[in-house]
Amino acid sequence: MIYADNAATTKMSKDAIETMVSVMNETFGNPSSLYEVGQRAKEVLEQARKDVAEAIGAQPQEIIFTSGGSEADNQAIITGARLGALKGKKHIISSAFEHHAVLHTLKKLEKEGYEVTLLPVHEDGLIRPEELEAAIREDTCLVTIMYANNEIGTIQPIREIGEICRKHQVLFHTDAVQAIGHIPVNVVADQIDMLSSSAHKYHGPKGVGFLYAKKGIRLTNLIEGGAQERGKRAGTENVPGIAAMATAVKEAVASIDKNAKNLIQKRDRLIAGLKEIPHSALNGDASKRLPSNVNFCFEGIEGESLLLLLDDKGICASSGSACTSGSLDPSHVLLAIGRVHDVAHGSLRLSLGEDVTDEEVDYMIKSVKEVVEYLRSFSPIWRDLVAGKKQFIL
Ligand SMILES: *Cc1c(COP(=O)(O)O)cnc(C)c1O
Repeated sequence: MIYADNAATTKMSKDAIETMVSVMNETFGNPSSLYEVGQRAKEVLEQARKDVAEAIGAQPQEIIFTSGGSEADNQAIITGARLGALKGKKHIISSAFEHHAVLHTLKKLEKEGYEVTLLPVHEDGLIRPEELEAAIREDTCLVTIMYANNEIGTIQPIREIGEICRKHQVLFHTDAVQAIGHIPVNVVADQIDMLSSSAHKYHGPKGVGFLYAKKGIRLTNLIEGGAQERGKRAGTENVPGIAAMATAVKEAVASIDKNAKNLIQKRDRLIAGLKEIPHSALNGDASKRLPSNVNFCFEGIEGESLLLLLDDKGICASSGSACTSGSLDPSHVLLAIGRVHDVAHGSLRLSLGEDVTDEEVDYMIKSVKEVVEYLRSFSPIWRDLVAGKKQFIL
């Protein structure tokens, strides 16, 4: 089997599993308890906080552990909104191709009377910093723009965005779930005020993540209860998961350069191979993208059927995001970069694992070629295109 859906989730690393099992066995105490096994759990927790902070250039007291990326996104955005409202500012800027954890939170805030501007994403899968600057108003309280997109892998000009936000004194949150552990991220250099991360996207466990909030930002609670996480996130901490996340993030960050070098070579080999398929197109900029991400549209076919047939060939891939597959709506990300419905439906995302080989890349190219050709052989849309009854777009 070739697992090429690492943007949906990753396999846990051996070290992360070991950490998790060892904490479950040895350090099962409640970190809020005063006796020894509780205090040892507390030490594990605080060491993890240091490790996680160091991975992004933050201070340990700036890290809150959460249940994952979605919770961190929700808490950061609600915080930005509430802090804004205190000053009478209720305008938020984001982009059209954010994760649903961001877009649906913004929808909720709109119903409460906030105004949201979604910046356009250009055909290359990038927003333009000058368009962001032009959108900032007197009453803008928050900018939330993702670091790297989960579907098409494009990496936003985060440092420029951070600079613009700092200059205009607007809080800047970034959903960095796809970036952490894959490309270098430094919250100080990038001038980031809040950042979301999720362990299962870098070989850690599912159901755990963290929110970075720059010192001085008063977080709004999503969950009320005990005084855990400095009173900002109630509930007994997921100590084994948090410890495993720290192991995974240290491992991933330490290997970024080595992995990127290999992945970029494999990614570009895969892109070159798939480009040979007639009436196909790469989605997103060819170089300003995650080292692991390949995303294509093939005209005249359905992404779902493509996935099922690739599954038969032992390839795990995705079409659109995992959250929307199963629904008939085409990906909001592909629509945002200007793909029309018909074309957006025929999309394929292959997100490579760090250990992918040239042989596997060649097998993927061969398989996708075969499957696309097969599906086109009985596609009514393809027949119309070839007969000239419909115009080719790609
Ligand atoms: C996976 C993902 C999320 C959600 O993270 P969970 O830990 O699964 O809640 C949010 N944003 C992006 C960009 C993602 O890829």
